[in-house]
Amino acid sequence: MNLIIFGPPGAGKGTQADKIVTEFNLNKISTGDLLRDEISKNTTLGKEIKKIIDKGSFVTDETINNLIKKIFSNNENHNRLIFDGYPRNLNQTKNLDHLLKKNKQSLTCVLSLNVPEDVVVKRILGRQVCTKCSLIFNKFFNPSNKKNHNCGEQFLTTRSDDKEEVIIKRYKTYIIETLPILNFYKNLDLLYEIDGIKDIDSIYKEIRQILHSLDG
Ligand code: ADP
Repeated sequence: MNLIIFGPPGAGKGTQADKIVTEFNLNKISTGDLLRDEISKNTTLGKEIKKIIDKGSFVTDETINNLIKKIFSNNENHNRLIFDGYPRNLNQTKNLDHLLKKNKQSLTCVLSLNVPEDVVVKRILGRQVCTKCSLIFNKFFNPSNKKNHNCGEQFLTTRSDDKEEVIIKRYKTYIIETLPILNFYKNLDLLYEIDGIKDIDSIYKEIRQILHSLDG
């Protein structure tokens, strides 16, 4: 199966995607992570990308489309994709549609996490990401401890774009550029809307029910 996990920044996409990946043996494709990889390599492209991301803006569609093209050319990913944070606008949505058809693949569904702005801001301000295993935690809602995390506290970092003023800009951009994508998938009958305010395990329970019902 191929999935998209959709929602505003801080909705919990990465958190739920990690759980889906483990149970359904999928490969998570986070364009944010692919871009941050490029930044950590400190290449010229990486430096350009960092400037754009730190302002809360999007990198060009061309950069993203090239990253995604590479993903499809890897057989390991065939029918095993979960996209997290992609597509972000209608142009990217159409490009993904084109790549899926070209590679004789289809989307199983789009899981959309609904979370209001005030909750998103709180979640992002507490977000911590492990630089060693990439798991996502939250200072307030889901702290890292010995039971849920083996790497140790010293690997926990906050993202450079997780600042209050940048979050508000990212949320606005989401409403204007990303939210209209939902109609595209609704028309294709692929859209599943999920209440993202509940706790992490309750949300996952709902998601796995949907996925088991579609995984025929
Ligand atoms: P996204 O990938 O949508 O930007 P994340 O998965 O990184 O969001 O989650 C944002 C922050 O909120 C993280 O710190 C995460 O631990 C926390 N979080 C995720 N889901 C929930 C939830 N259901 N309740 C409370 N906090 C959550």
